[in-house]
Amino acid sequence: MTASLEAAAAALRRSRATTILTGAGVSAASGIPTFRGEDGLWRKVRAETLATPEAFENDPKLVWEWYDWRRGMIRDAAPNPAHHVLARWTRDHGATLITQNVDGLHERAGAKDLIRLHGSIWHVRCWRRCAAGADDWVNDTVPLETLPPRCPHCGAMVRPGVVWFGEPLDAAILDRAMTAASSCDLFLTVGTSAVVYPAAGLIPHAKRAGATVIEINPDATGASSTADITLRMKADEALEAIDRSLVNR
Ligand code: NAD
Repeated sequence: MTASLEAAAAALRRSRATTILTGAGVSAASGIPTFRGEDGLWRKVRAETLATPEAFENDPKLVWEWYDWRRGMIRDAAPNPAHHVLARWTRDHGATLITQNVDGLHERAGAKDLIRLHGSIWHVRCWRRCAAGADDWVNDTVPLETLPPRCPHCGAMVRPGVVWFGEPLDAAILDRAMTAASSCDLFLTVGTSAVVYPAAGLIPHAKRAGATVIEINPDATGASSTADITLRMKADEALEAIDRSLVNR
């Protein structure tokens, strides 16, 4: 075990309240592309330009074709060891898990009380916000029967139940995340480029409140200078190694 892995495992053993923030990198080992990685393109279009309200207004069918493709890929994927280790930490060690991911893989691994900052790719709601369709509901049909899918209440289009770039987060969910960041003694940031706000702001928020910060990411990010311990590793490999050392202590 490297010195950094030892230090991370020791910090986890000492911790009385651990909060973990995850991003797309956690699902990379399940075969789900990140947005900023080499495979973050679909039909040569950058993912960030599709995940906006403006893109949906301009071409809802194109945006739904992209979501339909991602939903198919995610349905065929399985949680990887990173999801399983983190889910176990939420169940057995009371860790609080916050994710920017919309793929549902933390949930499928059995994570407890997950704080989902950016919604779910399996949720939809009425684009026109009709009275009956304004709240999210589950639609896990793959592939979707019509693109764009229609609201069963008013016949308008439905939109994915995710937070797009430029949209505000649900205030109550953000509040839960901020509290989890400011009340922990150990904060792990795993597989996120730390450029999407307000999620990325949770890292300095935890640090200012006195937490030790560990970053797990093969690449340096905007959060690296805030981290006390950096593990330049893939999420599944790092988390499995730390978990083994906790179990074998
Ligand atoms: P991002 O695409 O901006 O960054 C991904 C990060 O993961 C990068 O820093 C990269 O170095 C790192 N990474 C790549 N492979 C890794 C691995 N095996 N282990 C650990 N880290 C690895 O993703 P983000 O920071 O989560 O922000 C993008 C936004 O896109 C989020 O809001 C999220 O909702 C959304 N998104 C979600 C999914 C998903 O649900 N699976 C996928 C793509 C994007």
